[in-house]
Amino acid sequence: MVTSETIQVKKTSKSRLSEVDFDNIGFGQIISDHMLISDYKDGEWSNLHIEPFGDLSFSPTILALHYGQIVFEGMKAFRTKGGNVSLFRIEKHYERFIRSLERMCMPVMSYRQFEEGLVNLITLDQAWVPNGEGCALYLRPFAFASEERFGVKISSEYKYIVFSGPVGPYYSKPLRVKVEDHYVRAARGGTGSAKCAGNYGASFYPAHLAKMQGFDQVLWTDGSPELNIEESGTMNVMFVIDGVLVTPPLSDSILDGVTRDSFLTLAHELGIHTQQRSIGAVELESALQKNILQEAFGTGTAAVAGAIQSIDIKGKDYSIPVPGENGVMNRIKNLLTDIRTGKAPDKYNWNTIIKISQ
Ligand SMILES: *Cc1c(COP(=O)(O)O)cnc(C)c1O
Repeated sequence: MVTSETIQVKKTSKSRLSEVDFDNIGFGQIISDHMLISDYKDGEWSNLHIEPFGDLSFSPTILALHYGQIVFEGMKAFRTKGGNVSLFRIEKHYERFIRSLERMCMPVMSYRQFEEGLVNLITLDQAWVPNGEGCALYLRPFAFASEERFGVKISSEYKYIVFSGPVGPYYSKPLRVKVEDHYVRAARGGTGSAKCAGNYGASFYPAHLAKMQGFDQVLWTDGSPELNIEESGTMNVMFVIDGVLVTPPLSDSILDGVTRDSFLTLAHELGIHTQQRSIGAVELESALQKNILQEAFGTGTAAVAGAIQSIDIKGKDYSIPVPGENGVMNRIKNLLTDIRTGKAPDKYNWNTIIKISQ
């Protein structure tokens, strides 16, 4: 249990909770009552406080708007069987947040500040944690350069904010993707392994072009002649080839997904063989031709796992069976859901339980 007296809390005088139709929450529109804010100034994070969610005002010169020092996280809290709230893998998200901040030359914060802030915010807005099947409270911690000045420099001031919102199952029909052989999302030595806003901005145009061609997403490659597959849109990618779960190895051009890591751990528990290794377009195409590619899917916090139904390689379209309920993707996904909601034992200490007084 984490408690804190150091966080100033200004509660909303008018909760918006009663306006929410929890049977139709969708994904990404509804925001909970409060937000957490901290300022970095004079070399330290301070003024950690919670206030009603609302607009903030900034000068148009703040450095984030011009030079892009912005990083974020995306994590989920779940309603457990017993009515408490369980926050998933906070340490792994924290470690990645720190790595992203460091890569963007931004100041890190202590684990204590990160955890205290989240736990206090979730406790205050606990009524916003939905309990429907596949539902969660999505948390969006982010930080950006807030120094007011337009000359290029590393900002000396930052803001850290966390807001949250209830989300339903992220339903997507199985995706049609193409191996992107012109644009790259991330290069070796670049920022691909940092969860920074610019990576998303840069990925939109190729994704938009792919949509115009009738695809839902692109499969990013490393840009080498081998076209080694890296990610699927904004998710990590996994293939089941001849019964083995194959995913590209982490590098500085692949985002170290918490869901990816959880899937690999749970595959092991379920006796599914895994390989983290490069897979190039030639191998992928040959597996498709030989019909040994049994499943393909993306993993990420929002959707957990999203099936891929077809892959286009240099203009040739190959279809893939949609993963069945007893397939690799769904077996792992179901176990993961059970662990997060307390229906299966939390062997790996992934859950931070926030006790809710009834
Ligand atoms: C956030 C993200 C993922 C998924 O990471 P999770 O921790 O599983 O949500 C994968 N790829 C990219 C590019 C991302 O930004």
